Amino acid sequence: MSQRTVEEVNEKIRSGKANVFTITQLKDAIRNEEEISFDDVDVVTTGTCGIMSGTAAILHIPVTKPGEFKKAKSIFLNGVPAFPGPCPNEYLGSVDIIVYGTQHSLNNPDYGGGFLFKDFLSGEKIELDLESIDGERFKKTITIDEIGGGQLIGTRMAFKNYTAFINPKGDKVNSIFNSIPMEGKLKGLSFSGCGEYNPLQNDPKQNVINEGTKILLNGSKGIILGNGTRSSNDKPNLMLSADFLDMDDEYIGGFKTGAGPEVYDTIAIPIPVLNEEILENLLILDEDVKLPVADIHGRHLPITEITYGDVWKDSDNRPKFHPDKFDEFENETIKNNCPTLAINDNGTINFDSCFGCGLCATLSTTGAYTQKLNNVQLEINNEKKDVPIVCRQSDRQRALKIATKLKKLILDGKFEL
Ligand code: SF4
Repeated sequence: MSQRTVEEVNEKIRSGKANVFTITQLKDAIRNEEEISFDDVDVVTTGTCGIMSGTAAILHIPVTKPGEFKKAKSIFLNGVPAFPGPCPNEYLGSVDIIVYGTQHSLNNPDYGGGFLFKDFLSGEKIELDLESIDGERFKKTITIDEIGGGQLIGTRMAFKNYTAFINPKGDKVNSIFNSIPMEGKLKGLSFSGCGEYNPLQNDPKQNVINEGTKILLNGSKGIILGNGTRSSNDKPNLMLSADFLDMDDEYIGGFKTGAGPEVYDTIAIPIPVLNEEILENLLILDEDVKLPVADIHGRHLPITEITYGDVWKDSDNRPKFHPDKFDEFENETIKNNCPTLAINDNGTINFDSCFGCGLCATLSTTGAYTQKLNNVQLEINNEKKDVPIVCRQSDRQRALKIATKLKKLILDGKFEL
């Protein structure tokens, strides 16, 4: 059996002789029925982007001169509550804090930790409000340049794909699994998961994706700490960490859902092809990756099953805006519902923020926004139902972008496995 070691792959990278594929280059070659042998490929860069609720940032923030307060009792950043500690930082005038990506602002129900992370990374001024244990208040604005250190940790990230959701009852359900409350019997399907791009889907036995594996997390070089919370053999996920201050704001941000703001992240993981089994696992396509469809009232109960081919095939990554169909009244609703606040007052889309979720096209009755999202055929109680996809909570465009960035870093000799 053909084999190579990670060190041998790194040697090939150093000598400029490594064959590195992005995940789409490999899958396109498979679809084109090209022969892919062990000798043709040394590394494949996989990627995923989606809502990852286990995201938290640990930040060290200067507040006053040393000695001006003893310890922090509470701290808010743009109204988002953070947790002071674990270090007491007694009389330092600065605080260590942990901020959850899922934490909601007390001032604005549409703002939370994910939006705060993006604002920090894009250089925005952040309003800080601290109360000490002795009741003193300190308010100031800070920017990322003043932060003394920061690390992002994800307790459960990059699940081996996920689930789709429908509402079989039709009542109104506020859930993090749809960008707006889901109502109407079988009116639509939302789903998460990047299908054939997904790292663990391409290494399901975790032959190479393991504790210590180097990764890109939101553009920053990071590491796998181990498997994440709730990880199981059937549904593995990963605990990851990377330097927050090195992250790129385009890969992380807030995403409004029916149950309040959440956070999304983007991850690339290299898969070195060390043996034939690893290559074999990489050959899987969307059409072979199962996507369970569950009741949004109880996500543990799959009702039926489709594939990632059904939801991603031939769909558009991003919506189109048609100014001639712009309607001010409709736009107000769509703009307010856009999960990543990507729509401007004049209807144009800020594509740096857009997630490609499809909600604007779903909500638009004037045709001002269009995006090809698929319909899926569901078999429920022996009846066939045609259900439109109304929201995608994963973004393959960002997933591919980070997988491409990782390939370039490897080829430039800036990222060793
Ligand atoms: S697809 Fe539409 S609704 Fe979704 S993030 Fe982009 S602009 Fe907003």
